[in-house]
Amino acid sequence: MAIVQLDNICKRYGGSGPVAVDNVDITIGDGEFMVLLGPSGCGKSTTLRMIAGLEDISSGTLSIDGRVVNNVPAKDRDIAMVFQSYALYPHMTVAENLAFGLKRRRVPAAEITRRVADAAQILGLSPLLERKPHALSGGQRQRVALGRAMVREPIVFLFDEPLSNLDAALRVNTRNELIRQHHRLASTMIYVTHDQVEAMTMGTRICVMNGGKVAQIGAPLDVYWHPADTFVARFLGAPPMNLFTLPVATDGERIGGETVSGPLSRWSEAARAPHMGREAIFGVRAEDLHLDAAAAGAGGGSIRGRVFAVEPLGAETLLAVETEGGVECTARLPRDVTARPGELVELHFPASAGYLFDKATGKAIPAQISAVDAVPRHAIGTAQ
Ligand code: ADP
Ligand code: MG
Repeated sequence: MAIVQLDNICKRYGGSGPVAVDNVDITIGDGEFMVLLGPSGCGKSTTLRMIAGLEDISSGTLSIDGRVVNNVPAKDRDIAMVFQSYALYPHMTVAENLAFGLKRRRVPAAEITRRVADAAQILGLSPLLERKPHALSGGQRQRVALGRAMVREPIVFLFDEPLSNLDAALRVNTRNELIRQHHRLASTMIYVTHDQVEAMTMGTRICVMNGGKVAQIGAPLDVYWHPADTFVARFLGAPPMNLFTLPVATDGERIGGETVSGPLSRWSEAARAPHMGREAIFGVRAEDLHLDAAAAGAGGGSIRGRVFAVEPLGAETLLAVETEGGVECTARLPRDVTARPGELVELHFPASAGYLFDKATGKAIPAQISAVDAVPRHAIGTAQ
């Protein structure tokens, strides 16, 4: 059992410096894989290091299984951390690297042998136990680093961008490996990354951070479908959500005008009322844009602009378009799109697409019928 609870945790480096972590409140459930996601400098590593006991907590309470551990030294917290640089000992074999921390803790030799053999077997390292790190691939080294954390049999695993040093293919492999190990070990894991794909694929929940604060916590697809504000809307999703600052019609039926226009039929009268005749921020995801009006269906919206870049990715093509008002947006289109830079295009989106945000605060204005509920679901494996 390991429930990690952060209550109003703050961190100021040097006691009086700027706030690196600002009132963070998160409860991480037993066996959960929680991802802390956000841009560089948003306070992810600082949060993780405070949980590990490597950094003092300026204010707030950190508890593990109900016990306050603010002043418990790192070595007594029963937590293991895997860093971006694996820092394996180059002159030691894999087996020695795995055993090192346990020896230092004076774990009995027979117990060390058992734990090293178990971890090696789970991670597929058994045939490599006598090798030195220089004779391992990046992925194998990563597994040794994970194994070194596993042999400690900690109640919580912490990871700080452990895949950043790997090439793209290996990152995918190792990501899947970590997901598998999480299922197998069922331990509480807290994982820091700036990579939204890692967060979406690995996390049972994601905590999006911005400027030291928690922007939103939720299951990956919940956060993707219901971003709390424009920051989260742009941070999750590649390309990021397209955003336009536009006037809401005085009757609240539509937003925008000549070049960008969308229906607001999914928002209640009450939600629209404060914005009627004023500006709000309208968002559309790249995958909801179509060149073919029929694909968007009736009653939707449209964006007119000039193509300034075409990015054929093989499976799909990204079209970067600049509207008359000078706002750039990106459409994710089928691979057979033939548009050329300089061409004028009209992009269409369904009435079910579209997000609305308050112009002053950037906070989402929730729709009565959310985008996810308005989209037809594809059932898999249902009998006819
Ligand atoms: P992230 O891991 O999200 O990139 P960090 O937690 O490393 O962010 O940093 C959060 C903020 O705290 C940044 O503004 C960073 O410059 C600052 N910071 C990090 N470590 C220190 C330190 N040892 N001393 C002073 N400021 C620091
Ligand atoms: Mg960091």
